[in-house]
Amino acid sequence: MTPTRDDGSGPTGTDSQATATSAATRRDDAPSPDVSGSTNDGDRTSSAREPIRRRVLEGAAGAVAAGTVGTTGSVGATADEPGGETVDRTAARQEADGLPLLDGHVHLIPESTLGRDPLDADGLVAWMDDNGIDRAVVLALDSPEAYPVPASSPWILEQVEPYPERLLPFCTIDPRTIVYGEDAVEELLERYVERGIRGFGELKAGVPIDDPRAERIYELCAEYELPILFHTDEKAMMDEVGLPRLEDVVASFPEVDFLAHAHGWWAHVAADVEEADLGDYPDGEIDEPGRVPALLERYDNLYGDLSGISGWNALTRDPAFGQAFLETHAEQLIFGTDYIYPGQEVPQLELFERFDLERSAREAIRSGNLEGVLR
Ligand SMILES: [Zn+2]
Repeated sequence: MTPTRDDGSGPTGTDSQATATSAATRRDDAPSPDVSGSTNDGDRTSSAREPIRRRVLEGAAGAVAAGTVGTTGSVGATADEPGGETVDRTAARQEADGLPLLDGHVHLIPESTLGRDPLDADGLVAWMDDNGIDRAVVLALDSPEAYPVPASSPWILEQVEPYPERLLPFCTIDPRTIVYGEDAVEELLERYVERGIRGFGELKAGVPIDDPRAERIYELCAEYELPILFHTDEKAMMDEVGLPRLEDVVASFPEVDFLAHAHGWWAHVAADVEEADLGDYPDGEIDEPGRVPALLERYDNLYGDLSGISGWNALTRDPAFGQAFLETHAEQLIFGTDYIYPGQEVPQLELFERFDLERSAREAIRSGNLEGVLR
């Protein structure tokens, strides 16, 4: 297999802190504030989301009680959302209330950076309570390409310890760590598994996605039955236009479940992709479906992580396409936010109000699909 890139943790999600309604809010962990405003994230300008306490978790995992439901549904079709359909948001929320919500992509960060405050487990859980999120997958970050400060796997494990019913830890190991030998890497991974990790990620290292060192990690994840959440963009887990390397990886490790995230992946929701799109949020209507739907159709060990600006952009750049995409691939899409700093705006919280989905599809996207692949 050839070397590729990580998926897009690059330029995401840091800027929401400055202005909650900033049109340029990015989420994919990326340090570079995206000011292009070319994404549909601009939708948020006209519809700042109000925190809604949908339900509170009662003690045991997953036990939920219907809570107060916000009814200020102003997040629907707006002038900048051609084709957006008006749905009965109150009803949609109330129905969704009966279903658990598992966020497949959040972070904890130990130090301030990029003008963002740190985020610890207490802060994360408080935010989850405020937004009706029952449980969340907490991803580690350890590569310089991933974030300016590392959120190491041992630190993540320590942080989530007080919240075993709410926070599900993933660990990561930069593939270049193999410079210390494969045994050293396996020893680390085995220790993390013993400490209860539910998967591997966020894999966001500055190597091609099919780099032999990364492939050794995939083999180990197959051995330990860990799903892998990866970020692919122009500087991490790199691939080319058309995602040939990504496909090679997914096809070569059929026993591993891959959760695909970030720009390089989501740009391919449409057929017309240029090299610059691998690190961007291409906008506009989708005339011809791209590699994302094709690969989801072909590989059942591949999932789309809807978190980050990249995931939201893919769904909202052409709302009619987004609706059909969600319906068609509901069994392989995973709800996630990429929440990474206090106060971050997270458009995904509007997903089930904005799109009209059958209950079975909502259940699958909200928690069922991810539950099915966790270790
Ligand atoms: Zn992330």
